[in-house]
Amino acid sequence: MKHEANKRKEEKVKEMFQPYRKFAEEVSKAEWNHFFATGRFNKYLDNLHHIPSELTERQKQTCRDQAVGILESFVSNRANDFKRTVFRSKLPQDIKLQLFYINKHHLWHCYGEIEMPLFIDGERVRGEHVLIGDDIRKLARRVFKHVLSKHRKPSYGNINLALDAKVAGIFPKEEGGATEFDYWLKISTLERGNPVHIPLKTNYYFEDVDGDLKNFCFVNLRENGNLELCLVKDKDKLPYEVKTDEISLDWGLCVMFATEFGDLYGRNFFEVLKDKDKTLTRLAKQRQKRKLNTASKRYKTIRRKLKEYMKNEINRVLTRIVKTHGPAKIIVERLDFRNPDFSKRMNRLLSQCGRLAIETKLQTLHEDYGIEIEYVNPAWTSCECSRCGWTENKNRKSRDRFVCRNNNCGTALHADVNGARVIRSRSSTSLASSFVSREAIFNALQDQFQASVERYPYWPDKTVERGRRNSPAGASTPRGVAKPKELCGNKKP
Ligand SMILES: [Zn+2]
Repeated sequence: MKHEANKRKEEKVKEMFQPYRKFAEEVSKAEWNHFFATGRFNKYLDNLHHIPSELTERQKQTCRDQAVGILESFVSNRANDFKRTVFRSKLPQDIKLQLFYINKHHLWHCYGEIEMPLFIDGERVRGEHVLIGDDIRKLARRVFKHVLSKHRKPSYGNINLALDAKVAGIFPKEEGGATEFDYWLKISTLERGNPVHIPLKTNYYFEDVDGDLKNFCFVNLRENGNLELCLVKDKDKLPYEVKTDEISLDWGLCVMFATEFGDLYGRNFFEVLKDKDKTLTRLAKQRQKRKLNTASKRYKTIRRKLKEYMKNEINRVLTRIVKTHGPAKIIVERLDFRNPDFSKRMNRLLSQCGRLAIETKLQTLHEDYGIEIEYVNPAWTSCECSRCGWTENKNRKSRDRFVCRNNNCGTALHADVNGARVIRSRSSTSLASSFVSREAIFNALQDQFQASVERYPYWPDKTVERGRRNSPAGASTPRGVAKPKELCGNKKP
């Protein structure tokens, strides 16, 4: 929000940054000590007055809460690293399980007894528990130490102020009061009992969101020395009629999104991008020839408009999909935006801007309507047959054609619709996890295929083409059963 603070008030707020950041640094040292001794950060660490600072006690508490928040999110990212490391290791399954348990509950540095539910052959035995042994716990600490060592611990030199009700208050202006602003923001400063009151002017975007104003504000110090003040709202859920349980979407190469039901959305999207891509490349070339910086005014304008176009189109298409199908859950791939039709520049733009737009929109749909979003691992989704599970690079005949090369199946579909169905089939399975490597997925798909071939040696309604000699499931092998080596066509996984 635009603020109307005068120079004096602004200075008073800016004075807080240096001691605030320094205190955050100090308190985080104490928090780390606590963490390594007990396994937890302490939100209620109360000997704050031992840490000298110009901040008031309340400001110290607010600062500590913010620091702990930063530490907790840092540690939960490391927990993901831990999971990935253990997942890919060659440790026996039962040790992995125990490590996952410790990791899930963040017990790496907990020194009491750790009990976990008993599993036999991957099945949980109800009501039974086992103690996790010291050697496993030591191993967990070692793995955790290893993942910690790969990252710098959070620093606080550039943090902004996240102020809660202890040190800041937000008041709507009085009825019939001044018209130039809408809220008063009261912030306690380094001078005890002498807070500043800053008038704020609201804007359309903030007022347009339905929800309750929270007693919380962000005070950001920009590089150019300007103060930025942000208020926060708790958003209400909007009314929403669920028509389908789930829908899976495939980000295509020729249409933006295909659904498992066979609809194609955003048909012109890539054409427009291709066109703009040509223009940008031409402009860049001309500039480079004249040894000028690529980013001319015209270039920048086209780029900006292009980003806007991407964002608007993505929003429009996703809104339409939700309106049409009313899904309770949307399943998408962790997206890969590389498109062979585009220049490097365009692919970069698409993967930055497009990904952000999609993730933001999905997040908004989640917040507004409570739609659940699941991301699945994208490996091999474009080469797997959604009907029989046969996976081979050559299944994808061209950009938009998918023809299964399993002679007993021969399913022919729009490639992106097939992709969407495969994504759907991966949802909530172990193949959905982004920790699984491409190779492991390929092997699992192969196993699945073999298993289902043994169960159903003949695919119903087969479209067998006898003429295909080189096909992997040819006449020389039993029907539908492939030689493992040939599964993948030319490329090794
Ligand atoms: Zn097939």
